[in-house]
Amino acid sequence: MPPGYHAEFDFELRVCQWAERAWPPGSDRQRPILVARQLGTKHRRWDTIVFECDPDGLRQRARFGEDALDSDLLDVIPHAPAEWTYYRDALPEPGYPWRYVREAIHRAADRDILDTRKRDGRIEIRQKYRYPDWIDRIVAIENKPDLDASAARALAPQLQRDVAMGIADEVWVGTAATGERIEPALLEDFPVEAGILVVDLASGDAEVAWHPRSLNPDRPGTRILERPDGGDHDASAARFEYADSDWKHQKRVEIAERAYERGWRAYVETMRPDCRHFDLGWTQTGPVPTCQAKDRSQTSAECRGACSAFEPEPPVWRASDWPLSGGPGKAIQRVLDRQRRRHRPGLE
Ligand code: SF4
Repeated sequence: MPPGYHAEFDFELRVCQWAERAWPPGSDRQRPILVARQLGTKHRRWDTIVFECDPDGLRQRARFGEDALDSDLLDVIPHAPAEWTYYRDALPEPGYPWRYVREAIHRAADRDILDTRKRDGRIEIRQKYRYPDWIDRIVAIENKPDLDASAARALAPQLQRDVAMGIADEVWVGTAATGERIEPALLEDFPVEAGILVVDLASGDAEVAWHPRSLNPDRPGTRILERPDGGDHDASAARFEYADSDWKHQKRVEIAERAYERGWRAYVETMRPDCRHFDLGWTQTGPVPTCQAKDRSQTSAECRGACSAFEPEPPVWRASDWPLSGGPGKAIQRVLDRQRRRHRPGLE
């Protein structure tokens, strides 16, 4: 590992930068993409996610604004009718009290993404815009920069779960190039459906070591609850349950909506760029946060107000124009915000 390199967080940002620049590996980009990190379901969170988007759908999605539609809004907006209709006649049975649906309707009206009116004491709704089908494919990448034998053993069951569930269209492992061939034995336990991506930390480029197979998110998935370890004395049966395709579709849209709002640069919101030690190191492919006090890149978990080395920016940095208007912390936030906007397709 190069000097200053620290942990999976740094690697994760580099994979995001590479994906934004070079996805899909080895071929021209046919569709706009959106890159996000640390998103998923209640049970599973992926390190890096690439969304291949339908260009028209993405443009139409932009009409709903920069903020995500949360799960309650997604129970309303995509079902809103073209003509005025009593809301209970228009929307599917929610599976939870209707009063929460009414709250979502009012929130949607406040955001100006749904028409509402009251007729004879009943709330009627009408779509303002049609909610588009804007996600073509979802690619989930699990980052494991240091893929030694024990990391591979620990990762294999997780990949098997991802493949069995099939929420994403493709599942990958991203690992750092070592200059040596990946030992085939390391990959023995990986499902053949999972791709392997090898990232050169010096150049920021990545190569495919193993191509993934496409999964089928339209089919029901299998949630593996328990798996026997397969030892000589383990005769227990695997336990699993099915996840229907509607549930999978709903989760895909929820994840994509959160990605649309956050992108992958939102890490700065949970870090402390207002700390005097916070800095951005520039790699071949873009900025990576670094800590001058620790003399290395820091993780978002350690870069918080509770950090023992945290020191607020001197007020004079913010009050004056030195070195940049608002102080370095604000300037760093502006750089990242600008990049975030520039890379949110459909708003360009
Ligand atoms: S000293 Fe702590 S809070 Fe400040 S930049 Fe470093 S890790 Fe973040």
